[in-house]
Amino acid sequence: MTTTPVGAAARPESTTTMLDVRALKKVYEGRGRSVEAVRDLTFTVGSGELVCIVGPSGAGKTTLLRCIAGLLDSTSGEVVLEGERVTGPPRGMAVVFQEYGRSLFPWMTVRQNVELPLKEKKVPKAGRRRLVEDALEAVGLSDVHGAHPWQLSGGMQQRVAIARAVAYEPHLLLMDEPFAAVDAQTRADLEDLVRSLWRRLGVTVLFVTHDIDESVYLGERVVVLSNSPTVVLEDVVIDLPDERDQLTTRSLPRFAELRAHVYELVQRAKSGQRPAPQSA
Ligand code: ADP
Ligand code: MG
Repeated sequence: MTTTPVGAAARPESTTTMLDVRALKKVYEGRGRSVEAVRDLTFTVGSGELVCIVGPSGAGKTTLLRCIAGLLDSTSGEVVLEGERVTGPPRGMAVVFQEYGRSLFPWMTVRQNVELPLKEKKVPKAGRRRLVEDALEAVGLSDVHGAHPWQLSGGMQQRVAIARAVAYEPHLLLMDEPFAAVDAQTRADLEDLVRSLWRRLGVTVLFVTHDIDESVYLGERVVVLSNSPTVVLEDVVIDLPDERDQLTTRSLPRFAELRAHVYELVQRAKSGQRPAPQSA
């Protein structure tokens, strides 16, 4: 059985706070009907961390991400990025969505797709060229820069979306179930790509998934959400070695323990369990 306790107790003090989500609540209103998607979410992400959010389908993960990205107004509570309250899409943030098919412009080449946000950011031409080349190289797509998205596989299209986000040089990279629609092998490759980009670029990553294995494999922490109306069930520290590898890491006994722990939390979340009331 488990010898090392699993849970939030061992969390190391993070350096500076990149993202601070405070008592976030979102109720969708419309046509005389209201849906309380997110009830009360509070957590922080330290600068340079890779944090996964895991929760059942319909738990409000996309709602949360859209609030963080400034694409959706919260009902109450607040999102603070690098000390500033988010009221619209912040400059220091980039998002990779699940639907890569809809996030790339089909009439533009790969290069033009990656370059577009840099033009909007008013990066001078020479700088844009370098950023686009570096980003495409980082995701292994240097040789298809002239292709159009529809000429590429789903996994390659999602690489383009990642390259576009990375080229933007965000301080915080948000990813909303980005690999849900690709095959298992491609998914494993893209997971490793995210880990290697994160380690190399020092960017802070908030990665949303409903896949428990993926959350444990990728994250330094996994924030487990309850079902809707959503609260944080537990903030789990993933104390696996930094050097991760699909075969070695996934066969570690500790990986199995952490996976089982998160699995149990998500199962309880699905059956409607709420966290015990906290004193203080
Ligand atoms: P997840 O991404 O975890 O699957 P969502 O954030 O998409 O969850 O949805 C959370 C809840 O909010 C669901 O009950 C969903 O039906 C509801 N919801 C999402 N978007 C809207 C909307 N625009 N209007 C009304 N309800 C919505
Ligand atoms: Mg979603």
